[in-house]
Amino acid sequence: MTTSQGPIAAPITQDVLTIPRKLPEGGLVNLVGLTREQLRAALIEAGTPEKQAKMRVGQIWQWIYHWGVRDFALMTNLAKEYRALLAERFEIGLPEVVTRQISADGTRKYLLRIAGGHEVEAVYIPEENRGTLCISSQVGCTLTCSFCHTGTQKLVRNLTAGEIVGQVLVARDDLGEWPEQGAPKDETRLVSNVVLMGMGEPLYNFENVRDAMKVVMDGEGLTLSRRRITLSTSGVVPEIARAAEEIGCLLAVSFHATTDEVRDRLVPINKRWNIETLLNALREYPRLSNSERITFEYVMLKGVNDSDADARRLVKLIRGIPAKINLIPFNEWPGAPYERSDWERIEAFADIVYKAGYASPIRTPRGEDIMAACGQLKSATERARREKTGVAKPAAPEVGIGPACTS
Ligand code: SAH
Ligand code: SF4
Repeated sequence: MTTSQGPIAAPITQDVLTIPRKLPEGGLVNLVGLTREQLRAALIEAGTPEKQAKMRVGQIWQWIYHWGVRDFALMTNLAKEYRALLAERFEIGLPEVVTRQISADGTRKYLLRIAGGHEVEAVYIPEENRGTLCISSQVGCTLTCSFCHTGTQKLVRNLTAGEIVGQVLVARDDLGEWPEQGAPKDETRLVSNVVLMGMGEPLYNFENVRDAMKVVMDGEGLTLSRRRITLSTSGVVPEIARAAEEIGCLLAVSFHATTDEVRDRLVPINKRWNIETLLNALREYPRLSNSERITFEYVMLKGVNDSDADARRLVKLIRGIPAKINLIPFNEWPGAPYERSDWERIEAFADIVYKAGYASPIRTPRGEDIMAACGQLKSATERARREKTGVAKPAAPEVGIGPACTS
């Protein structure tokens, strides 16, 4: 986990909890993650008269997303019989929290189990006056970025919109951020920002990510403005304009190199859509999405992409694009073929970028003591299970979070 506030040497104290929670059960339709239109259709299908459907959608929506209610019986402005009907057909299902770890610096890492027994991670990073939740969009990833731990794992499946929204609900439950629990209002909200920087490539799960973000942005529910949501992509060029038009959130791009030769190696999707093609798509994004600037993520790899010449090429390449450049010290993982650049090198690089007129924050690790950076929680969990059961290989594919959940 990283921020732009300078290195944090967090003491190693851990609070590992197990919070049992129900998985969505077969047969019942999960209402979490349905768009308003989908919810309306589901209610009508269950027998709600069409004339009432809009009102019922509004009521149920508020119960789930504004009040944080999980039980139809508590929806007191609905008739008793109607509540019973809802309970027969539907559920309000969230991912199951397998473990929650809390870092000495307040970072919280959740290992979540979803249908099929797969596991993904979400990480909450508290900061002064705000908090960022980093969520996953896929189990594993189809792409194979050579510095990324998730990239070593095959794609298992896309998350549903419900599973994506569910990560936000789980965090708000855990943080006690619902009105009845005394949730603070907008300015000091605990989950004030969401970043799609966990596991997976969000633009390869476009519809589910879009629908989930619509739910998260809805003004009568979770109410996060589109400027508080950042989608990070490795550079799926054909979907970038679509993201601007259909989601409209902020965009971060995993840039990481200044020549096609190096980017081909680090972010192999570059072989399909190279730097020039990517930059052309990015130039259009602020206008199409009506957002201010794009975040360029740049992982600092010793001797690979971290020279002064790289820094100069970078600012030349992005000229004309409203941008900030987030420099990410490489999060090392066992067997990784790279090393983190030295701190002085990172600072020298940042300096060149800054002098060229771009904000160049260096993200420094958060939650290191709970290994919130690169899937190690899951690996550590699997290791513990193996030791306990004597089973050599984990039953489920081992997966890890995109290692740079950042704010
Ligand atoms: N798939 C999307 C989003 C998830 S990865 C993407 O690639 O953008 C989120 C960010 O973490 C990306 O910028 C990714 O390049 C970066 N990242 C992945 N592995 C990393 C590592 N080991 N150290 C630092 N950053 C890493
Ligand atoms: Fe997938 Fe992003 Fe990791 Fe690349 S950096 S392998 S796109 S999660």
